[in-house]
Amino acid sequence: MEDETGEPDEAGSNPKGSQGRPSARSVSEDRLSGRERGQEKVGDEPGRHDVFTPEERSRVMARVKGKDTKPELKVRSLAHGLGYRFRLHRKDLPGTPDLVFPGRSKVIFVHGCFWHGHTCARGSRKPKTRAEYWAAKIGRNRERDGRTQAELKQVGWETLTLWECELKDIDALAARLKAFLG
Ligand SMILES: [Zn+2]
Repeated sequence: MEDETGEPDEAGSNPKGSQGRPSARSVSEDRLSGRERGQEKVGDEPGRHDVFTPEERSRVMARVKGKDTKPELKVRSLAHGLGYRFRLHRKDLPGTPDLVFPGRSKVIFVHGCFWHGHTCARGSRKPKTRAEYWAAKIGRNRERDGRTQAELKQVGWETLTLWECELKDIDALAARLKAFLG
């Protein structure tokens, strides 16, 4: 199994991510200041801020803020804060999914953009050294991801793949989790 933390040539990434207070202010703070400046509403996506009840929001923010920001942990914290219960890395399922929701027959993978060859900027990054080695490795990962999804589907499991680059907007992420998990 690959270690998905850290990437080649990656400088300055701080896996602990908690020096000082993280810059992520809570959404409610942002909205409050927006309201004070009279800038709210125009162009705001309707309904998007309603994914959380107030209780859920404070629970989730308490968990997500200032914690280890590793992508998988972020998703776990959020799902847990939303009240979902799940198992981790069930080895008896194809691909050992990161989060497993047995009652729903659903699984979630949290993929690093580089390692799994996402089509975003980070995923398309080409390391300067050993380029062929990395290209081959990532190609194999992508093939395996495709196979894994097909196998899971065959045995009755639905899959959601979350990419590292999609995790910044907590509200959007919560909406996706709710849409997938019901
Ligand atoms: Zn990406």
